[in-house]
Amino acid sequence: MSIKNVCILGATGSIGLNTLDVIAQHPDRYQAFALTAYNNYEDMLELCEKHQPRFVVMVDERAADLLDALLRPKKLAITVLSGAKALEDMASHDEVEIVMAAIVGAAGLKPNLAAAAKGKKVLLANKESLVMSGQLFMSCVNDSGAELLPIDSEHNAIFQCLPQNYTCGEFIGNSVNRILLTASGGPFRTWPIEALRKVTPSQACAHPNWEMGQKISVDSASLMNKGLELIEACWLFSVTPSKIDVHIHPESIIHSMVEYIDGSVISQMGNPDMRTPIAYGLAWPERITAGVSALDLFQVGQLNFERPDVTRFPCLQLAKDAFNAGGTACASLNAANEVSVASFLKGNIPFTAIPDIITRVLETVPVNNVDSIERVLKADLDARRVAEEIIVSL
Ligand code: NAD
Ligand code: MG
Repeated sequence: MSIKNVCILGATGSIGLNTLDVIAQHPDRYQAFALTAYNNYEDMLELCEKHQPRFVVMVDERAADLLDALLRPKKLAITVLSGAKALEDMASHDEVEIVMAAIVGAAGLKPNLAAAAKGKKVLLANKESLVMSGQLFMSCVNDSGAELLPIDSEHNAIFQCLPQNYTCGEFIGNSVNRILLTASGGPFRTWPIEALRKVTPSQACAHPNWEMGQKISVDSASLMNKGLELIEACWLFSVTPSKIDVHIHPESIIHSMVEYIDGSVISQMGNPDMRTPIAYGLAWPERITAGVSALDLFQVGQLNFERPDVTRFPCLQLAKDAFNAGGTACASLNAANEVSVASFLKGNIPFTAIPDIITRVLETVPVNNVDSIERVLKADLDARRVAEEIIVSL
């Protein structure tokens, strides 16, 4: 078996590090060929020493220079590149076979598209790119023959519950009744609405079951993560929101389910550890070890389920409405959310302002057809500008 070259977009992040962990467990199968990050050159230096990739991209030029200077005396054969275009070059590099798409936010869109257009095996963690440009991204995958495997734990679970010969993007078939998309409910699941106004960024980032980057942690707390995932599922499995039922499941043991027309419900379970979906994506259709501890259901004891409360957590409904509005509405939703979350993390707006700002942005920015990537990027920019104006005026 030949060793496969992997490009990890967002290598210093939570998904990136988990991916490197799985790769390091299987040096006979995978090697880190290219690692990318925004500006965290100190963490990247450590990753370079440990994983010895051939290429590193630091999007920030100064960080690239600093990393290069630190690497030179170590005499490792690593080329350091900088700038956003280098992300696309690495994602589409001839020697790369697998691309882990794990940049956070809209910044992942262009490199993910570059990987898909080159027909790579794309392991998709970055849900924002699919939310922004679902139609374009899925047709790019279809045209190039790229292999798209979902890494988001819920979508990976759904993929595992579908028939073995299922390909992402295909209609899931008449034998499927519903997708049951599970959600932990986040750290504020049981909090009263008045208390939500005062939550701090560190409370929002303290997820009960998963350790993740800051942005997705805040999204999980607001349920926007589930909203983005609902849109992601619509594109990956060719369904509309009416076929998807969100189930709050606080234990995060069932990662999602597929209900068939004969009444069978198939679920995928496991401890909440992203190395499981990452290993599944890397090795599919085979299975490899991931370093994940065995699930002890006696210890878990109970599995609970609740309906989502859209009064306290309006973001889920906003996402459904944006998908149903179609066109660039989802790109605007995503951009407004990114700006609002960044502002909340800086302490500039209360947690409860996030859905209010998104609502106002969606009312202001016109919806256009998604016929080109430029249209998507324009909606993204317009929504960011409007969101920033609203925040300044608060
Ligand atoms: P993170 O914040 O931990 O890491 C983000 C990575 O992206 C870092 O390597 C960072 O350097 C890089 N990055 C940030 N801004 C960039 C930019 N402008 N240009 C280029 N690179 C940039 O995030 P994460 O939690 O690993 O999440 C990554 C993606 O995976 C997100 O889209 C998230 O929704 C998705 N995801 C994460 C998890 C999880 O458990 N963490 C689960 C499911 C899906
Ligand atoms: Mg998820």
